[in-house]
Amino acid sequence: MSIRTSRVLHRSLRETPPKAVGGDGVWLIAEDGRRILDASGGAAVSCLGHQHPRVLEALSRQASKLAYAHTGFFSSEPAEALAEQLVGHEPGGLGYAYFVSGGSEAVEASIKLARQYFIEIGQPQRQNFIARRQSYHGNTLGALAAGGNAWRREPYAPLLSQAFSHVTPAFAYHEQRDAESEADFAARLAAELEAEFQRLGPGTVAAFIAEPVVGATAGCVTAPEGYFRSVRDICNRHGALLILDEVMCGMGRTGTLHAWEQEGIAPDIQAIAKGLGGGYQPIGAMLASTGIIDTIRQGSGAFQHGHTYLAHPLACAAALEVQRIIAEEKLLDNVRTLGGHLERRLTERFGNHRHVGDIRGRGLFWAIELVADRSSRESFDPGLKLNQKIKAAAFENGLGCYPGGGTADGRRGDHVMLAPPYIATSDDIDVIVDRLGSAVDSALKSIGH
Ligand code: PLP
Repeated sequence: MSIRTSRVLHRSLRETPPKAVGGDGVWLIAEDGRRILDASGGAAVSCLGHQHPRVLEALSRQASKLAYAHTGFFSSEPAEALAEQLVGHEPGGLGYAYFVSGGSEAVEASIKLARQYFIEIGQPQRQNFIARRQSYHGNTLGALAAGGNAWRREPYAPLLSQAFSHVTPAFAYHEQRDAESEADFAARLAAELEAEFQRLGPGTVAAFIAEPVVGATAGCVTAPEGYFRSVRDICNRHGALLILDEVMCGMGRTGTLHAWEQEGIAPDIQAIAKGLGGGYQPIGAMLASTGIIDTIRQGSGAFQHGHTYLAHPLACAAALEVQRIIAEEKLLDNVRTLGGHLERRLTERFGNHRHVGDIRGRGLFWAIELVADRSSRESFDPGLKLNQKIKAAAFENGLGCYPGGGTADGRRGDHVMLAPPYIATSDDIDVIVDRLGSAVDSALKSIGH
């Protein structure tokens, strides 16, 4: 039996999603004229909302001059200006930008740069990478091997590199013990990371890789106070690099341009993507410390990597305008203020909800975790697909939100993420929380709760 309605290989092969035909700030418009409030920017992408006139204008200016020139022959004005905008002031010592087409490519480049750096300095034995369970670093095979998302890894496990091992995530709601203080929890995680270095042989570890605020796999999970300072110390002590994956949580999403600014540390290599171009073009970037790049310049003289669409001029032009708007319009102030409002509204609506176990996040990056039982933190049966039911009910009700399953351990657990655009208003936030509340209650009702 054929149920084909489209030649596009969609995410579900049984269902063709409605066509999106327009955008208007925080709203997406479907082919039937329905307006959907885009409360998650897709997957935390659309940080300026849709159809921002300044970005459209920048795109058309660049398109009228030059759409593409291969980086084997040319640089371009937008690429140079974007790099200057991002790393001209060397934030945290990051002095160079390598522009790719998305988050997975940014992570692949980060892993390869770390590996090449150690070859260049005469430490080729450094071939291990430590990451965390309940993390996501992308879907290409290298990035998938780095990630600790159990259900995404499972079918491809035989193809994934053994160079990556995984430690306990800094996920207080599920990992912090009852009698443990926040400081004790952070100390236990640091001790486990130290033990992993020792197990592998400290001189064999190239880098530790982590998301400063975990995104879609666990739902906006911030680390305990002091955790990232301990991680930085351990990496330094063993001569390993720290790679931070800010593909989802970076570029202002948590209230500072880089999430690591709020942890009191900086990485050696950083991956960024979604909020970099805000969805106006596919773009990601690896940011690397001046020290690493200077070392390679003096060594082999080239990063041994590359893609056809590196530093694509149109993509860089869009991202440059997005970043200029965020800076000139001081939108991060809005992220912080509105983030406080979102937290308050979520707490009012769900703080006493019998099936919402945790409300967590930072800036305009928040999630609620659904549980069958608040006291035991027991998840719902994954077969009920509660998070998908909430997504569908919200969509029906004119709200786009980002659900996830496997929240607790990669198999069990449900959460819903919100990542509204930085241009949202407090009225938008009120509508988002109201509609999400109705969606949660109607989805729970549909499974008998
Ligand atoms: N890293 C993180 C933290 C992400 O959230 C994602 C995507 O969701 C990726 C990497 C992969 O990015 P992309 O889907 O653009 O390849």
